[in-house]
Amino acid sequence: MPEEFGRGYLYLHFRSMALVVQKFGGTSVADADRIRNVARRIVGTAQAGNGVVAVVSAMGRGTDELVALAREVSDRSHPRELDMLLTAGERVTMALVAMAIQDLGVEATSLTGSQAGILTTGRHGQAEILEIKADRVREGLAEGKVVIVAGFQGVDPSSKDVTTLGRGGSDATAVALAAALSADRCEIYTDVDGVYTADPRLVDVAARIQELSYEEMLELASAGAGVLMPRSVEFGRRFSIPIHVRSSFHDGVGTWVKEETMEQAIVRGIAHDVSAAKVTVYRVPDTPGVAATVFEPLAVAGVNVDMIVQNVSHDGTTDISFTVPEESLDSATAIAKEVAHKIGAGGVTVDTEIAKVTVVGIGMKTESGVAARMFRILADHGINIEMISTSPIRISCVVRGDKVGEAVKALHTGLGLDREADS
Ligand code: ASP
Ligand code: MG
Repeated sequence: MPEEFGRGYLYLHFRSMALVVQKFGGTSVADADRIRNVARRIVGTAQAGNGVVAVVSAMGRGTDELVALAREVSDRSHPRELDMLLTAGERVTMALVAMAIQDLGVEATSLTGSQAGILTTGRHGQAEILEIKADRVREGLAEGKVVIVAGFQGVDPSSKDVTTLGRGGSDATAVALAAALSADRCEIYTDVDGVYTADPRLVDVAARIQELSYEEMLELASAGAGVLMPRSVEFGRRFSIPIHVRSSFHDGVGTWVKEETMEQAIVRGIAHDVSAAKVTVYRVPDTPGVAATVFEPLAVAGVNVDMIVQNVSHDGTTDISFTVPEESLDSATAIAKEVAHKIGAGGVTVDTEIAKVTVVGIGMKTESGVAARMFRILADHGINIEMISTSPIRISCVVRGDKVGEAVKALHTGLGLDREADS
């Protein structure tokens, strides 16, 4: 540090100034008014003496509309061109937000993911961030500008083609950028007030969770709580970036996702997912290597298999069931059929009318009996459990799709989450 600046002054200066990454989702930037509103919020943070990097999503349902347009033009898959198309959505927003900020008298510059140095793998539609150079982001900040970065996108350094990070990927852009810049925090602005004990559309007494650990958030996000993309939570955990999920429509405090939480809840929240489907390969010969033969080609095809159940064998054959996300169902079914034929299994059935309900809490690590309570509550409501899976802080059950609302409500009450909502 150059002596002439005076250490004391610099120290104070750095102390008061934080670097904040703010991410604004599609609904927060859905029209011109909301974009101006977002600009005011960013300017407010900057004028309070903070460095601000804003990551923006496509306006409203912009990405869905572009996907639909692509389907109208062609029914084949064009991974490279689709990414080219989809990255345009976030480019529209970043430029408009930068204009609105400049109109408020603050300097702002917008950058695409590629310009921001977000380097990814080449897997179109599902690229993973490898490295963030962020040189131009740092330059912009050093010039006193607010830097707006287009979410959800990067560039494959070997092909120089633009890539997208998967749906909801702007969250990953924001948290990864926060990590690369050693930001003090990452704020995720959205259309809800934070993370809830259950989906408030199903449970009217669901309450906002004040704080939860990365581990808990990761389990909830992976189990269908749509508020954060799971990969973004993974980045937060890996680089210890505190994440504040909050509303873009008011100034109220939202939910903090961070390392340590004051209270180690036994049950922190309930998530559900109606999008998964169950694939069963039946009458599989019960011999060594069969499971590997079924799941290897699924792995190669990038199918994200969630729960797996293999039944007890009768007469030398067994049934293997597994769940997959909706978007992978067609490829998973095709692969399963091919494998079934190869290994001489009976065949393949598909069930899309399932739902998964998941209970998460870090206190489960030390408290036993939560699974038994969960099963009893479902039983008392006449809800059949079709598959079960657990982690040290999570229990998931697959139930009939039309029972999921009742299951979530019953568990919210039965596991004591209603009471917290009152307080
Ligand atoms: N616009 C992209 C999507 O809708 C990315 C995002 O919003 O996070 O999935
Ligand atoms: Mg989102």
